[in-house]
Amino acid sequence: MRAMVLERQGEPLVLSDLPLPRPGPGQVLIEITACGVCRTDLHVVDGDLTKPKLPLVPGHEIVGRVRAIGDGVSTLKQGQRVGVPWLGHACGCCRYCREHAENLCDAPGFTGYTIDGGYAEACVADARFTFPLPAEGSDAELAPLLCAGLIGYRSLKMSGDAATLGIYGFGAAAHIMAQVALWQGRRLFAFTRPGDTAAQDFARRLGACWAGDSTEMPPEELDAAIIFAPVGALVPAALRGIRKGGIVVCGGIHMSDIPSFPYEILWGERQVRSVANLTRADGEEFLALARQAGVRCEVETFPLGEANIALDRLRRGQLTGAAVLLP
Ligand SMILES: [Zn+2]
Ligand SMILES: [Zn+2]
Repeated sequence: MRAMVLERQGEPLVLSDLPLPRPGPGQVLIEITACGVCRTDLHVVDGDLTKPKLPLVPGHEIVGRVRAIGDGVSTLKQGQRVGVPWLGHACGCCRYCREHAENLCDAPGFTGYTIDGGYAEACVADARFTFPLPAEGSDAELAPLLCAGLIGYRSLKMSGDAATLGIYGFGAAAHIMAQVALWQGRRLFAFTRPGDTAAQDFARRLGACWAGDSTEMPPEELDAAIIFAPVGALVPAALRGIRKGGIVVCGGIHMSDIPSFPYEILWGERQVRSVANLTRADGEEFLALARQAGVRCEVETFPLGEANIALDRLRRGQLTGAAVLLP
């Protein structure tokens, strides 16, 4: 099979011919039809996340069809359309797994990081961590739901019942989460890189009631803010814009250092918290909700062999919506 392979961090991916993997017990072989490009892939390729398996096939927003079934798998069928997310495995026995927090598992496996992922024509996946997908929507449109959508949704849940919500960084996760939040009746305020009027227009077009630069204060005090951009300086900026008792949620897996800030902007029972990974329950809940809310992903597709170009466009902030690779 053809695959885009990361041989060393900090270097471009290499188009390679790999043997087709065989599904072991509990696994399925998936013929990949679309794989989203997530900011986490950039952190893996660029070396911000320091412990990948190498060589590695990145990619953890996988959509495809089940082509072979390993021993002991009874939940998935031959030919079924499925999705594979970032959490590719959890141990099932650590304290976090036992307490319904498998997203915090002590011995996890991550698709496209410690397990070969979806920048390829096929992959094997643990059947227990593979989601059946609904019949609606194209493969490319569904792919970004598998991470950008899921992490966005978990971040949204962490923001509580906020009626007014700030979003810092209006990329793939934000554009999916915004549709869910608006459908739930919340009001959205979008903050982008200073001067990124294209992203601001995109946010307004999706229904944000205000969009502006991340250096600006919101026009009114917000109940909560979610930060998707990997920029630590946004934490104090977001804290300054929320009301007493409000919450700032950091949705990314990696962020630059957070500058020191006066205690005064945290005081008043404001909170800062992170969101890590996902649970399978999040996935089932979100996929059902996305269908109900009629979530539509705006995608830009690239042939598999152009993965480096897609990553570079994401690095430069030159994408509207989500990039998706087609094998
Ligand atoms: Zn565990
Ligand atoms: Zn991701």
